[in-house]
Amino acid sequence: MNTLPTINLRVTPETANKDELLKSALSKELKIHKDEIHKFKIIKRSIDARHRNIIFQLKIAYELKGSSIIWPKIEEKPYQKVDDNSSKTIVVGSGPAGLFAALKLLSLGIKPIVIERGKDVRSRRIDLAKINKEHIVNPESNYCFGEGGAGTYSDGKLYTRSGRKKHINSILETFVQHGADEDILIDAHPHIGTNKLPKIIANMRDTLISFGGEIHFNTKLTDFIIENQKIKGVTVNSENQIFADHVILATGHSARDIYYLLHKRNIKIESKTFALGVRVEHPQQLIDQIQYKTENRPEYLPPAAYSLVEQVDGKGVYSFCMCPGGIIAPCATTPGEVVTNGWSPSKRNNPFANSGIVVTIDDENLKDFEKFGPLKGLKFQEYIEKICWEKAGRTQKAPAQALSDFIRQRKSDYLPKCSYQPGVTSVEMDDIFPKAIVNRLRQGFIAFSKKMKGFDHPEAIILATESRTSSPVRIPRDTESLEHPEIKGLFPCGEGAGFAGGIISAAIDGEKCAEKVMQNVKQTKF
Ligand SMILES: Cc1cc2nc3c(=O)[nH]c(=O)nc-3n(C[C@H](O)[C@H](O)[C@H](O)COP(=O)(O)OP(=O)(O)OC[C@H]3O[C@@H](n4cnc5c(N)ncnc54)[C@H](O)[C@@H]3O)c2cc1C
Repeated sequence: MNTLPTINLRVTPETANKDELLKSALSKELKIHKDEIHKFKIIKRSIDARHRNIIFQLKIAYELKGSSIIWPKIEEKPYQKVDDNSSKTIVVGSGPAGLFAALKLLSLGIKPIVIERGKDVRSRRIDLAKINKEHIVNPESNYCFGEGGAGTYSDGKLYTRSGRKKHINSILETFVQHGADEDILIDAHPHIGTNKLPKIIANMRDTLISFGGEIHFNTKLTDFIIENQKIKGVTVNSENQIFADHVILATGHSARDIYYLLHKRNIKIESKTFALGVRVEHPQQLIDQIQYKTENRPEYLPPAAYSLVEQVDGKGVYSFCMCPGGIIAPCATTPGEVVTNGWSPSKRNNPFANSGIVVTIDDENLKDFEKFGPLKGLKFQEYIEKICWEKAGRTQKAPAQALSDFIRQRKSDYLPKCSYQPGVTSVEMDDIFPKAIVNRLRQGFIAFSKKMKGFDHPEAIILATESRTSSPVRIPRDTESLEHPEIKGLFPCGEGAGFAGGIISAAIDGEKCAEKVMQNVKQTKF
């Protein structure tokens, strides 16, 4: 049996989107008649928009007539049926880290008991509507808490700079197995979209339950059960206890009560650098014009994206989580704070483009918060989010400024239209952030506007604050066993533990922790 031949092609957007044209381009490149091609399929796709003539770069697998080739299929992950006699592991949190840990445990024959403080995906929707329309934040059910974690109503961009290809592909295939479009396996920058994610997450829950796993909503970890430096289980909702020798702690970076609990119980946590800044929004048409260098977005091209980075005073200012055709979302997890983030539907067809523009916060920015020890970054993050809430009128309205006014250091009399549903209030960012941070943001925006002419257009607006891009706390773990160095059987996992940033890396970390649990289980048995 022959191996599948592949070829790289650079073609126009129209050719990339029309099978007949693509077949002709392929036959030309292969120097054969197109009738000799039996079958072909794009297996990698990216867009090169650096020049006026935009090109699709494709990797194509093909089969010629008469050759006998077996096309690889996506392997369905084999899960094992588990029951009460199986080894059990408690997974705290059903975000990407927790869910993928639970699925991996199932594939290894271990029964996952997932506890989740929030509600199922469908019930969560009601609470999201309340934040957007009534400014009511439910501390247990919001954009960050509930089934699927911050990943469910996220943008669903599925790329990461970290992680091995093999691991990334395994996560993408699991998404496809649960209903994601196969395109995510070929695109250089795969994207699912907020409208499609909830169904996929619900399908993952069905897998978990149908193979004997458990998932408990409205069930919050309120304490750890520890004996002789070994985890024995967890207390939930301050009353019930669940026992197991292994606990994967995947509570995300917004679960501040977990950091407080660990600190109170003298379980080691560490302060770490994190990122904070604003969310910027432009009309999508403007970003298309800048990136595609034409008045109107050419046919067959997606709404344009960008990625920006600049060094100011030796420190980075960079764009993060860019959402073409997106919406800015209110992502507070407690009443009395304002937090922004962004999402987009699968078609990316909203009229705005947004991204987080953030700077790194390190010890130098946290001098006034030293007394809080390992919680100093968290306290600073809380402090800024609270200022935003106060300044914008003690609602979920966000403090906002026209980008051009921010650059010129003046208050905005006019605020450009924006997608943030709870509304915006004109506030100077200089009244929110400490000088060192606001200056770096300003210098960053000036540099970005030189790189992307028109980025500081009068219709560009910035909203505060983008504060939950990364965790201000690390829950340490042994590099080999992945257990907390002081508590055997406790596996700090995902973004909340400081070992991931984004859906894919959190999911990979979840799988890794599950594998380490399996090694532990084997060692105890034999
Ligand atoms: C609007 C938005 C858009 C985003 N867009 C993208 C994107 O396009 N691409 C990308 O890669 N990332 C994106 N992210 C970030 C991404 O969602 C996170 O990086 C990822 O979800 C982190 O996964 P996690 O499992 O570590 O934590 P989380 O997803 O935060 O999950 C933690 C879970 O733990 C639960 N929990 C917390 N405390 C407790 C407790 N005490 N007891 C029980 N359960 C608890 C929470 O309810 C939550 O469900 C976005 C985030 C948001 C909010």
